[in-house]
Amino acid sequence: MAYNDQNIFAKILRGEIPCDKVYEDDYVLAFNDIAPQAPVHILVIPKGPYISIDDFGRDASAEEIQGFYAAVSKIVNEQGLASDGFRSIANTGAYGGQEVPHYHLHLLGGKKIGPMVSP
Ligand code: AMP
Repeated sequence: MAYNDQNIFAKILRGEIPCDKVYEDDYVLAFNDIAPQAPVHILVIPKGPYISIDDFGRDASAEEIQGFYAAVSKIVNEQGLASDGFRSIANTGAYGGQEVPHYHLHLLGGKKIGPMVSP
């Protein structure tokens, strides 16, 4: 499957639609989810055109991968998620329930997040 640059996160990256930005550097943009599922619900996306965690792990450079996860660490500490814990989720494809085909890591915290998978 080819990357579709008309997806909503690509439009956010190009500045065509706004976001509630939490953090940005050369490798990532992080912003609050528009429909939060927890008191803190942040999405972290790479700046490169990657569809999923699978695609990102296979095709991104070592620098991009290191930059992405270093930024995740910065964000969870800056946003106060690291001390009490949080959940990170990367929904992938149809069975994973992925809605937006640009790799994104959900960071959920601010309360106990509950069961890992709903029945
Ligand atoms: P997923 O199902 O893993 O693809 O998650 C996509 C997420 O993107 C959902 O949690 C949506 O609420 C969120 N979302 C969709 N559009 C926007 C937007 N414009 N700004 C922020 N979050 C969004």
